[in-house]
Amino acid sequence: MNLRQDRSPNETDIRALYDALLEAYGPQNWWPGDGPFEVIVGAILTQNTSWTNVEKALEALKSAGLWSIGALHETPLDRLAGTIRSSGYYNQKARKLKTFAELVEAEYAGNLARFLALPLVDLRPELLAVWGIGEETADDIVLYAAGHASFVIDGYTRRIVDRLGWRVDGEAYGDYQALFSDRLPADARLFNEYHALIVRHAADVCRPTPVCEGCVLLATCPTGVERIRR
Ligand code: SF4
Repeated sequence: MNLRQDRSPNETDIRALYDALLEAYGPQNWWPGDGPFEVIVGAILTQNTSWTNVEKALEALKSAGLWSIGALHETPLDRLAGTIRSSGYYNQKARKLKTFAELVEAEYAGNLARFLALPLVDLRPELLAVWGIGEETADDIVLYAAGHASFVIDGYTRRIVDRLGWRVDGEAYGDYQALFSDRLPADARLFNEYHALIVRHAADVCRPTPVCEGCVLLATCPTGVERIRR
């Protein structure tokens, strides 16, 4: 249930949400991956599946010796797809991995560090031009692999923002992103922690059916107040 109050949050509201989640859950120490290559592969594989399934696919890639840009580039598509089967949508995801690897091979001599050293203004469009990489995946990579301040928006973020009754100037990814980016300093560490905390809160408490009783945001959440009242 969404009881939007059409109240535009100010900087204090955005900061208060972060502070409340950080106090409740502590630092999340994301990304749950080891180094930029693993972050990128994980960001592509995690679309529409659980992280547990992603971890199985990551291990399978390592075991098969497909753990480099060069290996992703050279391995036949069907073999790559079979290796990441546990992640779901494996044919599409294999194609995304190969298309990304082809970009790095062709334009950056296979040097991932050189690619990630691009400034934010160039890196994000480069990623969005890769077949199958959308804004959320691009920002996962920009933020967690390259360390640039680009706020990640996912379904969890939209759910919490909507339930808090915060007005958003549209439904697009960029509309939700601006809600945070326009009210926070461009600080990659802050954006990193903030997104991780949102995911934690949405997974543990503000679930599809929220557990509002005892929620740290209850006092400022019209959806939660209404649910408790009923
Ligand atoms: S009170 Fe908490 S759990 Fe309930 S809808 Fe609001 S944010 Fe979600």
